Amino acid sequence: MSSEPELSPRLQSVRSQIAEAARACDREPSSITTIIVTKFQPISLVRELLDLGEHDFGENRHQEASEKAAALAGTDARWHFIGQLQSNKAKAVRAYASVVHSLDRESLIAGLSAPAHDEPTNDLGTLDVFVQVDLGTELGRGGVVPAALDSLVERVAAASGIRLLGLMTVAPLEMEPRRAFARLRELAEGVRRTVPEAISLSMGMSGDFIDAIQEGATHLRLGSAITGNRAVNG
Ligand SMILES: *Cc1c(COP(=O)(O)O)cnc(C)c1O
Repeated sequence: MSSEPELSPRLQSVRSQIAEAARACDREPSSITTIIVTKFQPISLVRELLDLGEHDFGENRHQEASEKAAALAGTDARWHFIGQLQSNKAKAVRAYASVVHSLDRESLIAGLSAPAHDEPTNDLGTLDVFVQVDLGTELGRGGVVPAALDSLVERVAAASGIRLLGLMTVAPLEMEPRRAFARLRELAEGVRRTVPEAISLSMGMSGDFIDAIQEGATHLRLGSAITGNRAVNG
């Protein structure tokens, strides 16, 4: 019994749009990971998505994410932390997140890295991270500015216990999404000179994921297109 009768058809529809957009630019649909953003959604909805075969979920607030991760421990849910992160929460986020998409400053690295050898209970594996880039003219919504990207990437590359997957961005309001995604792709080419295996691009939300696929997105972060409208917007 589903509390959300439209969930499955919406998911199907988005899945086929993704596949169609991928094929239209000669990409394999399977090369694109869809992260379903479940922020402000109840755990029951995440359970329904698990029943529908989905595993990758995105959350942007530590409190909510940690509660959901704890409630769904033992399932094959994978948690992607996509929100602005406080340095003093980084270590706690590492405990449940499979991927952090919002590493945007040096002060987060220590908390996200594996504990040093002399610390107890070091059974955490490698954490996958994206460095978030702010392409906007109005700063403050998260992300490192392009001019500071290289030095942050060098620090991340030198840290133990974290693996850089690539770059992440949210298309700024004042910019054509496709232009923003093309810019991120260019910046990623520069990053690969330092970290050759950092080939992933986390970009594309409900309103602009087709543009993102065309520019090479490997990780889409989709909320409302799949879950319907959020009660509160965040
Ligand atoms: C909320 C959010 C999303 C999903 O937004 P939708 O427009 O609902 O798809 C993606 N990325 C980030 C960083 C978010 O905060």
